[in-house]
Amino acid sequence: MAQEYDLVILGGGTGGYVAAIRASQLGLKTAIVEKGKLGGTCLHKGCIPSKALLRSAEVYSTAKKSEEFGVTTGEVGLNFLKVQERKDKIVEQLHNGVQFLMKKGKIDVYQGLGRILGPSIFSPMPGTISVEMNSGEENEMLIPKNVIIATGSRPRSLPGLEIDGQKVLTSDEALQMTELPKSIIIVGGGVIGIEWASMLADFGVEVTVIEYADRILPTEDKEISKEMQRLLKKRGVTFVTSAKVLPETLEKTDKARISAEVKNEVQAYEAEKILVSVGRMANTEGIGLQNTEIQTEKGYIQTNSFYQTKESHIYAIGDVIGGLQLAHVASHEGITAVEHIAGKNPAPIDYTTISKCIYSSPEAASVGLTEEEAKEKGFKIKTGKFAFKVIGKALVYGESDGFVKIIANEENDDLLGVHMIGPHVTDMISEAGLAKVLDATPWEIGHTIHPHPTLSEAIGEAAQAVDGLAIHS
Ligand SMILES: Cc1cc2nc3c(=O)[nH]c(=O)nc-3n(C[C@H](O)[C@H](O)[C@H](O)COP(=O)(O)OP(=O)(O)OC[C@H]3O[C@@H](n4cnc5c(N)ncnc54)[C@H](O)[C@@H]3O)c2cc1C
Repeated sequence: MAQEYDLVILGGGTGGYVAAIRASQLGLKTAIVEKGKLGGTCLHKGCIPSKALLRSAEVYSTAKKSEEFGVTTGEVGLNFLKVQERKDKIVEQLHNGVQFLMKKGKIDVYQGLGRILGPSIFSPMPGTISVEMNSGEENEMLIPKNVIIATGSRPRSLPGLEIDGQKVLTSDEALQMTELPKSIIIVGGGVIGIEWASMLADFGVEVTVIEYADRILPTEDKEISKEMQRLLKKRGVTFVTSAKVLPETLEKTDKARISAEVKNEVQAYEAEKILVSVGRMANTEGIGLQNTEIQTEKGYIQTNSFYQTKESHIYAIGDVIGGLQLAHVASHEGITAVEHIAGKNPAPIDYTTISKCIYSSPEAASVGLTEEEAKEKGFKIKTGKFAFKVIGKALVYGESDGFVKIIANEENDDLLGVHMIGPHVTDMISEAGLAKVLDATPWEIGHTIHPHPTLSEAIGEAAQAVDGLAIHS
């Protein structure tokens, strides 16, 4: 028998399950349709497992230099199966937590493949959802007043570069490796590629990153990508930039060989494995979009600022709509969509206040415009920069590379962007996010007394440096 709901969410990833919780808090009868596992990419193939591996890599590399801290250990070894076991345990614990939250919120979860069918009985618009149940039981039919599409994304490859899961991997397969390769070529020096480069270098793998753009992390501030490349190079990572990988040259023997066109010359590279990290594509196939008026552009679902598609009762959020493909973005888009459905008049998300983080070693984090973007937009800017090498807490940690950079509008002191590279900056960037939300000026950030000794002093000093008033430089 068909089940009726106020809201059915297609996809139980970070965007979908968070939207469901807010919907239940607002009294909406809600169901989630999930073909895989609740928690989606972030929990099972993204944020959490990759950060668990990064943390093991960090502990391994810290243990190897423990003498610097006056701590003597025996020979430091690496048990990669244990590393994977720890990662899986963390994922399982969080997965149990999400399942508990669904029960607590009385959210019905249908394990199966959801598809938008046709008109719902409540309106002449498309909306009915059929669920092909994973259990093989008869299809369930759900009749919602509203739908949120939160089907996420999956890794892309280069045309002609086939992912075989053995020699040529994406992050999906790399997360499941049971042993480390001796060497790896990483195609793509974006966020995911750089996190893997840093982690694998710490684990002792010989890493070569091949990037199409003229610098790694091409969407970050130029000074941040330059510093990241310099610091990773010091740790043994090889970078090849302005390089076009030629998929047709792939040869697989006991190793994988591939060539790239680098400044008009073809160069060959060889490693045990190739990790392809060239971006992601939206999961829009097979979900019944053809039964609706929903529009896509470059594969991504188009919405207004409350995430309504062309069918006003069908919303779309998260990776499937493109933009900033981040877990915290997906969940806040989900919350905004649900509050709109519930008539709560939410404010549209201001994407210039969203923090972006890179969890490599060193970490990097940013909010707002890069210096290049600010100039392109015609702002007259002033900048303040402060290095961690003079911050006491950074020296105490033994991690004093990197800096904080603040960009402000010279004409009215508006904060335009904050960029950081160095220890624990992913935990510090929220101060800059809050400053953007509250429309604080660099003077106000600098006037906020940052406790001593903390890494956050670098933010206060960088803010004061915008007007040439940093104390310790
Ligand atoms: C290696 C890696 C590391 C990352 N690290 C970070 C990070 O540190 N921080 C960060 O913010 N972001 C990170 N991300 C990005 C983050 O994972 C995504 O932005 C986030 O998961 C998007 O959430 P979503 O809900 O839109 O989609 P997803 O999490 O992809 O969830 C979509 C869900 O929909 C389900 N689904 C799809 N189609 C159907 C269907 N027809 N019927 C039923 N179910 C369906 C899928 O099974 C999936 O569970 C990382 C991504 C990767 C790959």
